[in-house]
This record gives sequence, C-alpha cells and structure tokens, in this order.
Amino acid sequence: MGLCLALALAQAGIPVCLIEQLGDHNLLEQVPRAGTNHPATLEMFDRIGLYRRLEPRGIVAPLFHYRERRDNELIAEFDHIHLKDDTPFPYVLQCERMKIVEEAMALAKQHAPIDLRLLTTFTGFAHHADGIVARVMVPTGEEEEIGGAFLVSCEGARSIVRKEVGIKFEGFTYSDRTLNIEVAYDFRRHGYAERNYISDPDEWSNLFHWKGPPDRWRVHFPTAPDDDPEAITRPETLQARLQRFLPTGRDFDIVASNLYTVHQRVAKKFRVGRAILAGDSAHVNSPIGAMGMNSGVHDAFNLANKLVAVLRGEAAEDVLDRYERQRRHVAIQHTQAQTIRNKRLLAEKDPAVRRRNHDELARTAGDPVRAREFLLRTSLIASLREAERIR
Ligand SMILES: Cc1cc2nc3c(=O)[nH]c(=O)nc-3n(C[C@H](O)[C@H](O)[C@H](O)COP(=O)(O)OP(=O)(O)OC[C@H]3O[C@@H](n4cnc5c(N)ncnc54)[C@H](O)[C@@H]3O)c2cc1C
Repeated sequence: MGLCLALALAQAGIPVCLIEQLGDHNLLEQVPRAGTNHPATLEMFDRIGLYRRLEPRGIVAPLFHYRERRDNELIAEFDHIHLKDDTPFPYVLQCERMKIVEEAMALAKQHAPIDLRLLTTFTGFAHHADGIVARVMVPTGEEEEIGGAFLVSCEGARSIVRKEVGIKFEGFTYSDRTLNIEVAYDFRRHGYAERNYISDPDEWSNLFHWKGPPDRWRVHFPTAPDDDPEAITRPETLQARLQRFLPTGRDFDIVASNLYTVHQRVAKKFRVGRAILAGDSAHVNSPIGAMGMNSGVHDAFNLANKLVAVLRGEAAEDVLDRYERQRRHVAIQHTQAQTIRNKRLLAEKDPAVRRRNHDELARTAGDPVRAREFLLRTSLIASLREAERIR
C-alpha cells in the first residue's frame, strides 16, 4: 500500500518519504499472503505503470469456481467477461504480493521525489500545527526525526500510528487458524480453475494457482482452535490432509506451509489530524474473496488524489474526512460483510441451507445479468462506485 501511495503521489510531483523496516536483502522473504488482483486494482496499477510489469509475472484468470468438495462437484463457474463493459481488465491477475512489492520497489527507485528509507524502523510521531514529525531508528541504531505535511500509516495490522492516537480496532478474531500449503502440482487436470472456493461442512478449502517456475498452488484448510501447530504442519500430516482432499496415491511436492490467524476488524477512525490510516492498519479481513490487499490499494489511490489536491491548495483539508467516510463505508459494508459471508457459505453445515445456497449460486452464474451484478460486487467495482456517491 505504501509503495502504491508513494508512486501515485510522486507521479503527481509530490515529494514522499517512504519508511520501510526491511531492506533489499530481506524484503522478499515475507510469508506468502495476497495474490489475487481484481480488475479495478489492475486499472490502478496501470495508472502508475505497474500493471505492465506484473502481467508477465502472473496468471490472467477470467474464471473462478465454487465447488462442493465431496465428489469435486462444480456448483458455479463465474466468468469476468461479464464485466467487459465495466473495465478494460475483465479478469483477475494471480500475482503474489511479493512480486508486486518487488516491481513497485523497482519503480519507486526510479522516481526522484521518493526518498526511500529502507532498514529504517518507524517508532512514533508528534503532531505540530502545520505538519508532523516521524521518529525513526536508522540502520546504525540511531534515532532520527523526519518532518512532513502528513503521515500515512501503511504499516500493516500492527500500526503504531493507530495505537499511538488511541483508535480502536473494532471487530473480532476467529478462534481457528487457517493452514496454507503450497504445492507444485497441476490441479487443472482435475477440472479446477485458477481460483476455487470449495465448500464442505467439515473441511472447506480454497485453491489458487500461481506462476512459477515451478508453478505452485496454494491450498487453504481450516484447523481446530486447539490443534497443536507443530503437529498439524508435520510433512506427513500435510501429505495426509492433501490426500484426503485429492487422493492421488502419490506424495505431493509440498513447497511450503504456514498457519495464519484471521481477524475481521475496522479502525473506528481512519484519520486523526494529519495522521491517516490506510490498508491493513485501517482494516483487516479474512482472505476468502481476496479483498484485503485490493481494498488497501483502493484506499491508497483514493487518498493520493485527495492529498494531491490538498497539497496543491486545490482542496481544503476536510476533503480527507471524505476519504474516511468513503473507505470506512467500503471496509464495513463491503469487505467485512462479504468476507464474513464467504466463510459462512463455504463452512455451512445445514444440508438444506447448503443446497439452497448452492442452487442460488448456480442460478446467478447462469444468468448474465445477475452474474454481472455478482461479479461487480466480488471484484469490488460496486464498492468503488458506491464510495463515489458518498460526499
Ligand atoms: C494468507 C493470506 C492470503 C491473502 N490473500 C489475499 C488476496 O488474495 N487478495 C487480497 O487482496 N488480500 C489478501 N490478503 C491480505 C493482504 O495480504 C493484506 O491486506 C495486505 O498485504 C495489506 O497491505 P499493507 O501494505 O496494508 O500492509 P502489509 O502488507 O502488512 O505491509 C506493511 C509494510 O510496513 C512495514 N512496516 C511495518 N511496521 C513498520 C515499522 N514500524 N517501521 C517501518 N516499516 C514497517 C512492513 O515491513 C511491510 O513492508 C491475504 C492475507 C493473508 C494472511
């Protein structure tokens, strides 16, 4: 998010200082996270010259599937081609966050007005009448102060800014963690699309394809709250779980695995004076539906437009309150509501409700008008249009 915001501001001629605790040697060593980029996000990446760098590194995926795990039954296939009149990118791009960070960082290094401070840890800040001063620890371990007109917290869910100004992070945390297993195996030979949401009353899952080499697929499974993390991530346990999911009779080539905790939270405020929250520092949600990073990028572009207008003297500072009104509305009414619903849909236990849900999905996918409306919502285009109407 920070990189997208910095690029959007710098390209409008606004000088930016980007503070990042990681350095060139470890920036790309983070755990795998986001990777599905929706059409509206691709439009934004295109605006800053990032899309053309990402497309060759990702997989263009117009289709996604809802499936029933038992018998691998296809419930509904959605095709983004229904959005051809809504976006120049009627597909998602499967391209992992690390590749986006790498390419955005390369772009940022080419932009003169971006003062890139790697290996520099943000530790706190102070407000002044007409600006802020950020406190950082530089690579030598010394403290330094950096002044600016505004401070945008793109620090992720543990935002120091959010805590320092005492903004509540309202919501809840699921008691169960999600297990992510990365496998080098071509699931398409079993009929799967590049993105699959797989419903099961006992063990729902998600299955996503990423470009290699070697190509990898990410399989998500739920775990029980009292599962022992060490026991459930042993190689033989992972193999057994994958074999239950898809019995091939041969060991899967497991590339990596990790467990993550899922939070559904939205900050009570997105702005206190000249300190502003964006991305995960403002909202976090389950990855089912691929909305976290996408909606964070949408925050960054919304905010960039408003900061440019304020800093050029073309808008009053209270336009930043509109940023909060628009993006907080999207976080609550779209990303939270939809990701909570997505998990419930996949994990539903009542057979009658499951049947009803699946019939409804099949009917929606089979009707071009309803399929388009559905895709406008899942791809977050509807959220952007709705936000535009908020004054
Ligand atoms: C398993 C998983 C799968 C996901 N899949 C998707 C998906 O398909 N699509 C989607 O849209 N979202 C997905 N998400 C969510 C997505 O990863 C996040 O929403 C997104 O990465 C948030 O971006 P951010 O820039 O706000 O924060 P982060 O990605 O957390 O970045 C924060 C940056 O700030 C730096 N930083 C933190 N603290 C400091 C400090 N004190 N000083 C200096 N630097 C600091 C960090 O090093 C990091 O570089 C997924 C999440 C998970 C866990």
